[in-house]
Amino acid sequence: MAEVAEKGSISIHTENIFPIIKKFLYSDHEIFLRELVSNAVDATQKLKKLASLGEFTGELGELRVEVSFDKKKKTITVSDRGIGMTGDEIKKYINQIAFSGASEFLEKFKDKADAKDIIGKFGLGFYSAFMVADEVELISRSYKAGEDETARWTCDGSTEFELTTAKREHRGTDVILHINKDSEEFLDEWRIKGILEKYCKFLPVEIKFGTKDESEEDGVDAEGKTKYKTVTKDRIINNPNPIWSKSPGELKDEDYLKFYKELYPFSEDPLFWIHLNVDYPFNLTGVLYFPKVKNDFELNKNKIQLYSRQVFITDEVKDVVPDFLMLLHGILDSPDIPLNVSRSYLQSDANVKKISQHISKKVADKLQELYKKDRADFEKKWDDINIFVKYGMIADEKFYDRAKEFALLKNTLGKYYTLDEYREYVKDLQTDKDKNTVYLYTSDTGKQHTYIERANRKAYDVLVLDGVLDSHFINTLEQKLDKTQLKRVDSDTIDKLIVKEEKLESVLTQAEQEQVKSVFEKAINNQNMTVAVDALSADDMPVLVTMSEWMRRMKDMAKTGGGGMYGMMGNMPDSYSVSVNGNHRIIQKILKAESDEQREKLAKQAYDLALLSQGMLSGADLTNFVKRSVELVG
Ligand code: ADP
Repeated sequence: MAEVAEKGSISIHTENIFPIIKKFLYSDHEIFLRELVSNAVDATQKLKKLASLGEFTGELGELRVEVSFDKKKKTITVSDRGIGMTGDEIKKYINQIAFSGASEFLEKFKDKADAKDIIGKFGLGFYSAFMVADEVELISRSYKAGEDETARWTCDGSTEFELTTAKREHRGTDVILHINKDSEEFLDEWRIKGILEKYCKFLPVEIKFGTKDESEEDGVDAEGKTKYKTVTKDRIINNPNPIWSKSPGELKDEDYLKFYKELYPFSEDPLFWIHLNVDYPFNLTGVLYFPKVKNDFELNKNKIQLYSRQVFITDEVKDVVPDFLMLLHGILDSPDIPLNVSRSYLQSDANVKKISQHISKKVADKLQELYKKDRADFEKKWDDINIFVKYGMIADEKFYDRAKEFALLKNTLGKYYTLDEYREYVKDLQTDKDKNTVYLYTSDTGKQHTYIERANRKAYDVLVLDGVLDSHFINTLEQKLDKTQLKRVDSDTIDKLIVKEEKLESVLTQAEQEQVKSVFEKAINNQNMTVAVDALSADDMPVLVTMSEWMRRMKDMAKTGGGGMYGMMGNMPDSYSVSVNGNHRIIQKILKAESDEQREKLAKQAYDLALLSQGMLSGADLTNFVKRSVELVG
């Protein structure tokens, strides 16, 4: 048969789409390779499918995709042994169908800069080749017996194309890009390798790119030492069977740990993981790992990678994964996440919402399972995972309802309680006269040691809530738990933290109380310190300086973000209350002192001692305190 050359015009409404494609995808030219390799993989998968259905009975051969380049000829070639295309199919798939989405694409995205992930989804993937090529050649031979005359299609980036016949030994397709002047950076082994590793690392068909040298054992030498030889092997870029494509039943713990190392070579082993495997009502697979978080600064977002049928799409999964799970690591793979649309649309997409809820539920289920299976082990992991759980409880009502069964509170003795257990544990002693149960907590066991002891002397329990999210978590607990208040252990005198019916009598007369108050006010001489004389037990501290629970919490929240009113609070001067224990013997000493000067000195000393125990004494005040102490002792 004579070679029939055909010339034609690619049918689109727009005069010329290529300059537009180039303009929109300017910042992301490298994705041309992802698109062409994905097409080659698709064609290969289709052939496998046909073979498995018995519709293709010929030789499969080695079903690899090969990427190669020629620096001199300035070409990059992507070859596959997939189903191939006949000349008619090229006209249909490449010329026409590819452009059916073009006008829609242009309409929607003419003003958007972030078109990087969408081109493939509009059936324009193949044409991304023109971002880097002056001319594209496609040589294809169909798998269909009798229709397997090789076709050669070329196009120079205008709307004109040329279709002729050619020779190709095997079934499959070569796409040959004649790289343009501005894109010569891509004619580089490391550049191509880098792009393939980024996007194609887990594609389901082997991708070969060049060769690599490996050292192999080669018998022993005369002295009995092992000899080595260098062998050149095909370099396979990808792992075609990543664990998330397998069923959880086939996998052992080692497989998950090995895969984690493959993804994050420098990270410590994760604590545990969740294998997602859903096919209805949406399709989602993946493995999410709980990383070991050594300190709060290591919390890394953007560690989850999003794939669509094993093609890497992005590591910005913000709208797909609930915010509080952004701290997890791993892979999500879903062909049902619409990547062809803008962010705001993604947030309102029903599938995305369902996927996000599903992930959140799975995480809660997994935690529940771990808790039930081995409480002791769960407690061991709690310090590492509490940040996820608390974040989830703060941010997501549904998650709170699931997590309240297994979320733990830890006290200063290192014991762990569920929310229900803890209430039982403290309710008898720590319920105040208004029937509110007061949970005392410390945010710093070192600095607040005196106060923890003070509480323990009354047999009160103290929780440790010292994480970055705890000030928010405390608010959540108060909202959710009935008749419960949380108070920092140093935020008031112990009797005021948990107010009981019986009240101590003051040993001072009204006039003496007034006098003590004014002596302390003069000695302290600071507007932000509000002095009150209280009747505490004689063995309590003589003076206590506290910031109210409310005020301090607002300030804490301003620090960890929260804008608005919290932001304003952050700028307010610190104000404290100074509680003078009228029943302490120092007060008698002050009242009986011989001069006003002496009285003030003693008051100042007692006040400084209180500051000292709060870690609030520094600079000149500290120096003066030390001087005064020496004087008083001497
Ligand atoms: P999409 O892949 O999104 O459908 P493309 O523009 O990338 O859009 O490709 C258009 C069509 O051309 C594909 O759907 C497929 O039918 C055909 N095609 C592209 N590359 C190949 C290939 N290597 N082998 C066989 N068919 C291909």
